[in-house]
Amino acid sequence: MRERPAVAVRSDVLVVGAGPAGSVVACLLAKKHDVVIAEEHPVPGEPLQCAGLVTARGVPASARKSVIGEVRGVRIHSPLGFVLDLEAKSSRAFVLDRPMFDKLLFQEAVDAGAVPMLSSPVRHIRTVDGAISSEIIRADRTEVFTSEIVVGADGYKSVCRKAAGLRGPKHVLRGIQADLKGVDSDRDFVEVFLGRDVAPGFFAWAVPAGELTRVGLCTWDVQHAPAQYLKRLLSRAEYARAERVSTASGMIPIGPGKTAVSGRVLLVGDAACHAKPLSGGGVYTGVKGAELCAQAISEFLGGGGENALRAYDSLWNEAFGKELTRAFRIRKVFVNLNDKKIDSALKLFAEPDVRRLLESQGDIDYPASLASSVLKLAPRLAKFSPEIIESFL
Ligand SMILES: Cc1cc2nc3c(=O)[nH]c(=O)nc-3n(C[C@H](O)[C@H](O)[C@H](O)COP(=O)(O)OP(=O)(O)OC[C@H]3O[C@@H](n4cnc5c(N)ncnc54)[C@H](O)[C@@H]3O)c2cc1C
Repeated sequence: MRERPAVAVRSDVLVVGAGPAGSVVACLLAKKHDVVIAEEHPVPGEPLQCAGLVTARGVPASARKSVIGEVRGVRIHSPLGFVLDLEAKSSRAFVLDRPMFDKLLFQEAVDAGAVPMLSSPVRHIRTVDGAISSEIIRADRTEVFTSEIVVGADGYKSVCRKAAGLRGPKHVLRGIQADLKGVDSDRDFVEVFLGRDVAPGFFAWAVPAGELTRVGLCTWDVQHAPAQYLKRLLSRAEYARAERVSTASGMIPIGPGKTAVSGRVLLVGDAACHAKPLSGGGVYTGVKGAELCAQAISEFLGGGGENALRAYDSLWNEAFGKELTRAFRIRKVFVNLNDKKIDSALKLFAEPDVRRLLESQGDIDYPASLASSVLKLAPRLAKFSPEIIESFL
């Protein structure tokens, strides 16, 4: 079918993508400015690509209704059979109904005044006379959309990032997960499984989610499909008899570039590669980055000049960028460990002082910030990478 002629539309800000990062930016800016939020899928939050484990600081009050559980501990299985339990006294993370979470945040943005465009993929973003021109496909026609600012909240494959010439991720993880019914497990604990045959370059998990258990993994193995590893994981005795309700998969981009700003295009969340290198979690950094991005854009639209936009880089770097850099360094050590070394390292974490520290101060949003204290208590960890001791002590 031939496309009908283009239609021109204008706004202050075009937000591309209605994941949590996009909806939070749109909501904060729509209170004062003309904002359009374009999402390629018909319904925000679907298809699901998440285990839903997020700390309280990553869940805005308006989306608390999507919390379906809380966990306060982790049971880590080494590849050689050693098991380490770390148990905090109180809740450490929420388990979310992630599609509901995304829908609540999107609705809040619309209620704040953002104009929603669903089933509307954005493409061909370019700067024309100082403003940005984007093409949005709506039904059978292309709308040419002009805005002062574009926020790329369009996830790991971000067209905004490519159009702005910004750097892609250092590593891309491939994830897959199955929701199982009928797993008998401790509902206060997340399970983590390590090992090259389990999830090379990352880990596998089991997250209690209401009456279901989300069993999944990410790998950094490009030769074998993640589904092969999932099949092996699901053959474990505790999952073998459970009923598989659904399966989801997705990619996680980690290792951001130095900047998430190029001219009038700003990136947030996975588009900016802001997911955490050690856990793959990207909801907290997406939501926090979105708040900081909205702050920078507000300054700019209030007359703050281009420097106001560039300030976004310092803001996210200060809030979580330094943590992402340190965590990425630790990840580089981790991916080079064989199963025997992973097992030995885990046993060092089980030493009473280290374990106490992890149980009392462990924070899944800022794990690397504890690295120097852990190394002081367990200096033998340095044998896994002498360089790491120099950078953390
Ligand atoms: C298997 C798996 C498990 C995970 N588990 C967790 C977890 O437990 N905790 C956690 O914190 N994180 C987890 N993550 C990561 C988390 O899902 C992401 O980091 C998070 O969704 C990033 O939010 P975002 O808003 O940046 O991007 P997204 O949620 O990816 O949203 C981007 C949106 O942009 C839309 N879009 C893309 N391109 C276009 C376009 N051209 N035009 C219009 N719209 C477009 C997409 O349809 C999508 O809705 C997991 C990821 C995977 C793959």
